[in-house]
Parts: sequence; structure tokens; C-alpha cells
Amino acid sequence: MNKIVIIGCGNVGMSYAYALVNQKTNVDELVLIDVNKKKAEGEAMDLNHTLPYAPNRLKIYAGEYKDCHDADIVCIAAGANQNPGETRMDLINKNSVIFKSIVTEVVESGFNGIFLVATNPLDVMTYLTWKYSKFDHSRVIGSGTSLDTARLRYLIGDRLDIDPRNVHAYVIGEHGDSEFVPWSNANIGLQNITNFIPKEELDDICHEVRKSAYEIIDRKGNTSYGIGMALVRITNAILDDENSIIAISSYDKDNNLFVGGPSIINREGVKKRIYFNLNEDETAHLQRSIDIIKDAINTLETD
Ligand code: NAD
Repeated sequence: MNKIVIIGCGNVGMSYAYALVNQKTNVDELVLIDVNKKKAEGEAMDLNHTLPYAPNRLKIYAGEYKDCHDADIVCIAAGANQNPGETRMDLINKNSVIFKSIVTEVVESGFNGIFLVATNPLDVMTYLTWKYSKFDHSRVIGSGTSLDTARLRYLIGDRLDIDPRNVHAYVIGEHGDSEFVPWSNANIGLQNITNFIPKEELDDICHEVRKSAYEIIDRKGNTSYGIGMALVRITNAILDDENSIIAISSYDKDNNLFVGGPSIINREGVKKRIYFNLNEDETAHLQRSIDIIKDAINTLETD
């Protein structure tokens, strides 16, 4: 019996929920929690009406924090969203306040599963979830650069007209403006990607990935489907004990924080964060990205 609780029934939480019911996942029970209880109830009612056409039977209802006690995954997608022009880091004060109460209530329920964090600024919120929960870091996962990596693979697959699943490249670092692609480790068909696309064009692709969220928010006010699918991908890797490699925000022991990078995920959470060789430029770039997360955490902790 696999149970998932989603806290925050906005665009992100509900895109995740809708993608979960649409796919053949191993989820048996789905609980929706929101500070706006009526919204959670309405969303649960609406989702239940998808079930006659869904590939799986599952139990869906609006719940309370006590329902987290026997959950396998608690996904937090609650909090403020970026307004046009706002960076993810701009959300830090609003969202750090609500995370303390949410994580405390989840832990007080007796929850002993895996936290999956989607709220921005993602790497900081994942760190706070770890701090407030006092869970082992292996059981705290941030969606990290999983969405950005999907955007990257889509753009490269489209450019080369190949299946994006055959693009072995990752966006790493902060899920934010300092994220980047270590091209020295990016391969297609066992060859480095620079054999297919010139470096200048690759840099444009990376730039396009980085500004995707802003472009989408400018047009529709939020982003939701991409992150919904990325969260389902991570969920399946956990529930199916896949040992899959996904770019998530996982604990980086060298810097004592959470940051995006390929990590092995299974039923226990993060089995291992993968450390790999970067060239000099990439090493400096990653460090700059880590320092941005570190500064944000320090600001919060000294407030
Ligand atoms: P939204 O405003 O549509 O939904 C947020 C929901 O959280 C609302 O329903 C609200 O009532 C609820 N909420 C607020 N405070 C709460 C509390 N204390 N307890 C329970 N519920 C509470 O926002 P959204 O578009 O769904 O975005 C949610 C978060 O996800 C934002 O921080 C956004 O920046 C982030 N996001 C992350 C990614 C990613 O790749 N990780 C992608 C897109 C958006």
C-alpha cells in the first residue's frame, strides 16, 4: 500500500496529482492538504471523477496533517509562486516561514517516509525541510534540476531530432539563475555533445533553459506541467525501488547543503549523490552556484 500526501494544492501540487492519476503508478492512496481546505476538497472531488477513465484505482481525499503518519512520500508544493520578473530567491522569506510550521506538523504526525520538496527557492527549502525535520538527509529530496534537465533534453532532442531520453546531459547547481550544464559530461550515442552541436549554440540552449520559467510565467502566470511530470518521475523511482539516476537536489556533504546534481534514487530515498569530474570552468561555476545557496541559508539563519 503506497500513500502520498501533497501539501499545497496549487498549480504545482495539482499538476503532480493529475499526472499521478494519469499514469500507471504504484500509488494506492493520495491525500491533499492545503491551508485553503475548501480548495483541497474541491480538487479531491474533481480528481475522483477522473478515476473511471484512469489506469489505476486509487483512493483520493482531502486530509489533515495526521494523515501523513503512514505516508510513504510527503510532497510539499505549498507557498508563494514567482510573480512576473520575480526570481525564485525572492520567495525565500515568505516560504521559509510557512515551511517551519508545515514540516513540524508533518513530523509530529509520526511521518517516517520521504520528503519531496517542490517549493522555491528549491534548494533552500529542501535544506530547511532537512533541518526542521531532523530526518537523515537520504530521506529529503528536492526536485532540484530535474525539471531543468527535462527542458534541456527536450531542446537538444528537438534540435537534433532524436529521442530526448537518449540525451545524457544534466543541468546541475541551484534550481535558479546560477544553474548550468557541464558540457564536458554531456553525451549522445557515446560521443560528447560538442560533436553534434557547436559550443556557442550549446551555451544558447543553456541560456534558454535558464530563462524558460520566466518566459512561461510571463505568458501564463506559472509553470506546472513540467514540474508535475518531474515529481512523478522521482516518485516512481522511489516507489518502484528503481535505483534510477535523476538530477535532484540532494545533500552535498562537502558543503553541508542541498544542491542539484545526478543522484541515485530508490525506496530508501537518495542512495547516493554522484560526484563526477568537472573541468576548471565548470568547477568554478558549480562553486558559485553553491555559494548563492549558502549565502541565502546564512541570511536566514542569522536573521
Ligand atoms: P500556487 O499559488 O498555485 O499554490 C500554492 C498553494 O499553497 C496554494 O493552494 C496555497 O493555498 C497553498 N499554501 C500556502 N500556504 C500554505 C500552508 N501554510 N499550508 C498549506 N498550504 C499552503 O503556487 P504554485 O504555482 O503551485 O507554486 C508552488 C511553489 O512551487 C512555488 O514556490 C513555486 O515557485 C514552486 N515551483 C517549483 C518548481 C520546481 O521546479 N521545483 C516549478 C514551478 C513552481
